[in-house]
Amino acid sequence: MTDALATGRDGAVTNWAGNITFSAGTLHRPTSPDALRALVTGSGQVRVLGSGHSFNRIADVDDGLAGASLLSLAALEPSIDVDTTARTVRVSGGVRYAELAGQVHAHGLALPNMASLPHISVAGSVATGTHGSGNGNRSLAEAVRAVELVTADGETCVLSRGEAGFEGAVVSLGALGVVLSLTLDLEPEYAVSQHVFRELPLTGLDFDAVSSSAYSVSLFTDWRGPRFNQVWLKQRAGGAVDFPWAVPASEPQHPVPGMPAVNCTEQLGVPGPWHERLPHFRAEFTPSSGAELQSEFLLPREHALAALHALDAIRDEMAPVLQVCEVRTVAADTQWLSPAHGRDTVAFHFTWVPQTAAVLPVIARVEERLAPFAPRPHWGKVFTTDPAELGARYPHAADFAALARRLDPQGKFRNAFVRSFVGVKS
Ligand SMILES: Cc1cc2nc3c(=O)[nH]c(=O)nc-3n(C[C@H](O)[C@H](O)[C@H](O)COP(=O)(O)OP(=O)(O)OC[C@H]3O[C@@H](n4cnc5c(N)ncnc54)[C@H](O)[C@@H]3O)c2cc1C
Repeated sequence: MTDALATGRDGAVTNWAGNITFSAGTLHRPTSPDALRALVTGSGQVRVLGSGHSFNRIADVDDGLAGASLLSLAALEPSIDVDTTARTVRVSGGVRYAELAGQVHAHGLALPNMASLPHISVAGSVATGTHGSGNGNRSLAEAVRAVELVTADGETCVLSRGEAGFEGAVVSLGALGVVLSLTLDLEPEYAVSQHVFRELPLTGLDFDAVSSSAYSVSLFTDWRGPRFNQVWLKQRAGGAVDFPWAVPASEPQHPVPGMPAVNCTEQLGVPGPWHERLPHFRAEFTPSSGAELQSEFLLPREHALAALHALDAIRDEMAPVLQVCEVRTVAADTQWLSPAHGRDTVAFHFTWVPQTAAVLPVIARVEERLAPFAPRPHWGKVFTTDPAELGARYPHAADFAALARRLDPQGKFRNAFVRSFVGVKS
């Protein structure tokens, strides 16, 4: 278990993408739970960095705030405890999905879904509502059944499914405490085969038929035309693959034009273990393009086609700064701050070129086009949505604010990002 957080030329800590230099000059890496507790109690503000794969200041401490500590759990002893009888796993706060999935699979068990890459930490992923795809698959946070936190006073607090406030404790934006461990539900292991199809036209698209055609479906377009360049189907063993709308690819593909397919998980219908097919990218290679910014907007699935046409109308504006756009679906979940909370969802993801100034106005245009559908941005990606409007799109924003005040009355774990977006003013 390591953090892949980059340090710039002057030793500053940056995120994976390199577009954020964290305000804290030092990244603390406590080596024991006691050292972690001492750091928490002795700091005026605390933020935890997972694997640093978010594209905005969600993980940052406040700029210029004395006594603020940014910390990583990468130097703590990792633990992954699988209970084969209960079909659960307890995983410590710094572990990444790649390590977790390998251990879970070795016990004959599986997670229900994964994101496009296994490089990300479990705690950081569920904190932002990270998801994979599939009409019947909920966000990764929904697999969590208990959260163990170190709170502002250095004490331990465990919140379990069914207890008051649990729905706010998983997609927490890092605002409730340091997540020491998470307990996740598992299921029996299963095999998946991955099939890629090419050139699906937008004209005449039956979105529901396409998105329900496999366990997990991803549509990719560069918006250089009204069509999807690729469609990735991930089908569980026993499920048929019937996709009459496009032609099967004859060789492995990478979703980002020009990138090598060797970076991607096995395709062409070869069955394999769930954790080697559900992510698009292999753990041992750079995921996606590696030089990029990302945005993602999640809205009710019933508006998928209308939203696609709304975006098609500005494809000439998007295409010059876009590497690829991915369309996925996520089943409604119960987490208060999950972008898929309470609504079956379609997610519009954008991998942009790594040029913030050129990309931001285009992101604002995308938000403008999607606004009629009340989109919720991915918490870990780039967006310009007005904080007040965003709060109104989460029916439980006030409940989350109350939970944050209950667990952390002084606001030690709340940074500027959290205070502005979820209405916790102090
Ligand atoms: C190439 C790439 C592909 C991606 N693909 C997907 C995808 O398929 N689906 C998707 O939904 N998203 C995707 N993302 C976004 C990514 O899943 C999120 O940004 C996620 O939060 C990353 O996890 P992390 O560990 O890097 O979190 P970080 O960015 O390090 O932190 C995110 C949040 O979690 C908090 N946090 C982290 N660890 C702890 C802890 N132990 N205790 C308390 N708080 C903590 C931080 O304070 C912060 O608020 C992708 C990102 C990249 C770079």
